[in-house]
Amino acid sequence: MAVFCYRCGTGLPASARFCSNCGTVLPVTQPGSGRPMIRPRVGRQIAGVCLALARHNGWDVGVVRILAVLGLVLTSGLIGVAYVAAWIGIPEEPAGAPGEYPPGI
Ligand SMILES: [Zn+2]
Repeated sequence: MAVFCYRCGTGLPASARFCSNCGTVLPVTQPGSGRPMIRPRVGRQIAGVCLALARHNGWDVGVVRILAVLGLVLTSGLIGVAYVAAWIGIPEEPAGAPGEYPPGI
């Protein structure tokens, strides 16, 4: 995906930090919301995969869970394999520091 200089409009590669035409410093763009993909400890139903996906992308967790269950039925279990893969692949939220109140309540 290309980025464009906001000053002169020159198309630049996505990894560009400066505009090659006018030298403007480009803002660092981060994928998604910028929040790391982690499985929260609070508010999860099974392993927190749906909650992690919802929070990372700014989606509603209820919609993600419904789509996951529908996908599980419609794909005859393929989503379940993806769920287990995400369970393994997405790191769990580290244990809360003392005095840290769990978010999402
Ligand atoms: Zn430029």
